[in-house]
Amino acid sequence: MRIAPSPTGYLHVGNARAALFNWLYARHTGGTFILRIDDTDLARSEPEYEDDVLVGLRWLGLDWDEGVEAGGPHGTYRQSDRLDRYREVAERLLATGAAYLCFCTPEELDERRKKAQAQGRPPGYDGRCRLLDPVEAGRRAAEGEPAVIRLAVARPGMTTFVDVVRDEVSFDHEAVDDFVLVRSDGSPTYHLASTVDDVDYEITHVARGEDLLSSTPKHILIARAMGASVPTYAHLPLLFGPDGRKLSKRHGDVSLKAYREGGYLPEAMFNYMSLLGWSFEAETTVFTKEQAIERFDLAAVSKNAAVFDPEKLEWMNGVYIRGLDPIEFIDRAIPFVEDELGRELSGVEREQLSALGPLVQERVKLLTEVPGMMSFVFATALTYDERSWRKVMEIDTTPGTLDAALDRLAIVGDWKAAAIERELRAMLDELGLSARKGLQPIRVAATGSTVSPPLFETLEVLGREVTLDRLRSARARL
Ligand code: GLU
Repeated sequence: MRIAPSPTGYLHVGNARAALFNWLYARHTGGTFILRIDDTDLARSEPEYEDDVLVGLRWLGLDWDEGVEAGGPHGTYRQSDRLDRYREVAERLLATGAAYLCFCTPEELDERRKKAQAQGRPPGYDGRCRLLDPVEAGRRAAEGEPAVIRLAVARPGMTTFVDVVRDEVSFDHEAVDDFVLVRSDGSPTYHLASTVDDVDYEITHVARGEDLLSSTPKHILIARAMGASVPTYAHLPLLFGPDGRKLSKRHGDVSLKAYREGGYLPEAMFNYMSLLGWSFEAETTVFTKEQAIERFDLAAVSKNAAVFDPEKLEWMNGVYIRGLDPIEFIDRAIPFVEDELGRELSGVEREQLSALGPLVQERVKLLTEVPGMMSFVFATALTYDERSWRKVMEIDTTPGTLDAALDRLAIVGDWKAAAIERELRAMLDELGLSARKGLQPIRVAATGSTVSPPLFETLEVLGREVTLDRLRSARARL
């Protein structure tokens, strides 16, 4: 099994899903999972994107047995380091007559394509250079005339294979032109490089997106021309948005990075993505990695388009967040809080967070929501949410409420949530206020917003000094 991303952009969720299915199948069968980098497009490949692939796969927990950084018997597993090998295969295919040199210029090809289209004929290459004498063609190329190398596809002919997901698939060679293996600048095409790698790395199963289905007959033809055996193919259904259209930026984030940074837990992402084209069991949507490995089978992957629904993913993330051990939850949340504060938390601050942790854990679906719910704890000068202020602080009972609260909180004996609650409830009775009218001003004064963890626990964590200070500041601002 292999995943072969091109480092020309951040790892797409579709590719991450393909990586996941390859990994699951390799782990289920005891096979080998290989990470290779398809970086033949040197102009568009960036080290940053290659890093993103490695970081993304590791974040998801998809370890690879061979490949970039892991090493293995096949060199660096980067296509840019194997150009000589692709050239060597192309030369051999030329020598056996499986491939030929083509001198048609881009302008000529363009003109012929337009003409063919106008006449309703297939727009692919018409095969004219196939008729050239190979010795003569070799001489022209040696003299420096620009040439590409094309595969001589058998005509008439048909390539048929049994796809694990799509069953039998056939391509009439009418629709497979004599495609290019090596460009005139000497660089290999994706078809050549990918197939040579799959052959050399002894890939037995290629599971990849259905968008590559029409490339597969080409890869089979190259492998056969090399005298190699053909791997088993599984074409995974494409990802669609909830509106039934192909997944794109229009639907929201499509890079794994965005989810990594967006407060998702890798285990939730793993679980959700494993359901994109596969199901664990009709009624079970939440399961562990080990359970997925035990059950996963490429043959059980659906042909139907899989819907990537950000809302469902967010729901699942909430399930996983609530399932975390409270200490683990705080550990995962701290980087997000520190990021927002722009500094590291002190030991005391970490303890404060831990005290509020379980209350916040129940209320968030994303780790990115945590700073907003907790950073009030660390504010030296509180900023008030304007809407909260207007709604709660600008009502006529608020000044009296804050005065009464200040008096009562000053005398609470043991600064614990229960004692604070007792005192404030007595205050509500005395003033004849509802909890909403009487407690919301205290919440806004102490946290800056009407949305916060439960009030009494929050005040306990803030401590008496800070609580009283904040109530006084708010009172002064009225
Ligand atoms: N580099 C190709 C891609 O990212 C690999 C496709 C394949 O799996 O063969 O689309």
